[in-house]
Amino acid sequence: MPGGDLLAERLAATDRCTRCSQCKFVPVPKSRAHMSACPSIDFVEYHAGSASGQLIMASGIAHGEIDYTPELLDTISACTMCGACDTACKVNFAEIVEPLEGLYAFRARIVADGQSPKRHREIMEKIGETGSSQGVARSERAKWATGLTFSTRADVLLHVGSVLSYDASKHQSLRTIVEAVQQAGVPLAYLGQHEGSCGMLAWDLGYHEQARTLANAFVRQVRQSGAKTVVTFSSSAISAYRSIYPRMDIDTSDIRFLHFTEYLLEMAETGRLSLKTASDHAWRKVAFHDTCKLGRLTEPYQRADYSLTKEMGGIYASRSPEALNFSRNGIYEAPRALLRQMDIEVEELERNREFSYCCGAQGGVKETRPAAAKMAARNRLDELKETESQVMVSACGNCAHHLDKHARAPATVVDLIDILAPSIVVGAANAAVRER
Ligand code: SF4
Ligand code: SF4
Repeated sequence: MPGGDLLAERLAATDRCTRCSQCKFVPVPKSRAHMSACPSIDFVEYHAGSASGQLIMASGIAHGEIDYTPELLDTISACTMCGACDTACKVNFAEIVEPLEGLYAFRARIVADGQSPKRHREIMEKIGETGSSQGVARSERAKWATGLTFSTRADVLLHVGSVLSYDASKHQSLRTIVEAVQQAGVPLAYLGQHEGSCGMLAWDLGYHEQARTLANAFVRQVRQSGAKTVVTFSSSAISAYRSIYPRMDIDTSDIRFLHFTEYLLEMAETGRLSLKTASDHAWRKVAFHDTCKLGRLTEPYQRADYSLTKEMGGIYASRSPEALNFSRNGIYEAPRALLRQMDIEVEELERNREFSYCCGAQGGVKETRPAAAKMAARNRLDELKETESQVMVSACGNCAHHLDKHARAPATVVDLIDILAPSIVVGAANAAVRER
């Protein structure tokens, strides 16, 4: 099997799943209404849709006990690969099962067996032809930057990602922020129409060899640009760089990868940029949506050496010497800190940070199972009812677009870049504004 049989390697861990179903729920839920962790099982409403159910099917395939059916493939394609099951399993049960690793391996096995769902194959064809899942011509990729000047080589490489590159409604905000960074004295390199896919979606769909090829090509481009820092506007890309490339054993220790929220916060804290009070009064108090890719799935992945112990009256559990991969080290603070700098009060949704609920936009679900993606978005937007704010803010263009599409009045969804753009000021001018 090309690249080895990852699923066979994972079985020792995934077969330890006890079917306890803890991966379906957020640990210590605040209410019954929002106790689910898993948008997939919320949609399909049978056990096979959960992480545990998918691991049972994976084991059946690996042991030759069951065969692929259209129902099996339909079920797995409702999973957003959001990783909430993985965090819940580790917090509630044991670290050794690592359900998300099992799901990655299962999807890779499905691809290797030539059983990938038709829509997944179509997405991969578009990525192969155009470098993006949207299938938009490469010549369109840098249109947002018309008139801007970039260096061919610089210390900092700007990565925009396909979502913002092709969303014309976001181009003005993107330009304003990029121009402010340049005016603050940072020369930026940018790959323009040569900017390729980070490989995240290919990985999620199980096309691990193609993901590796895309990742290696991108890392080569970074080194050719002379950049030591990559600043990306894409939550999928930052997740790929920090969390998936280590799984691929791609060495990027010479490159610093930052999400734009982290970079802008650094610039604000060193006085190169500042943020004045947000321009729209409706943004005085907002609820922040932690995107799975930006939060939980951006924690740098570390391989753990587990040892077995006997716990809880005979259930075999496993603990690594330290709590690894609990998703506590994702990007949670930077976007909140930027909002606070604009005098915006940040309300927490019930499911937040590493226990955030996926909006349904990721993992190919939006394209393959739109009804499942819509239901996840509506479930997430429902949490606004428990807050004083009716505004949900996301630092991910993909989530913001998807949530906005399914929001019903009075709920509204705002992309963080649309709040930042009118507030960004070059230099430390905000100090005076904030002292007023
Ligand atoms: S929480 Fe872990 S052990 Fe329990 S059913 Fe889910 S994957 Fe299996
Ligand atoms: S990755 Fe997300 S959608 Fe898939 S089984 Fe786990 S919690 Fe459910």
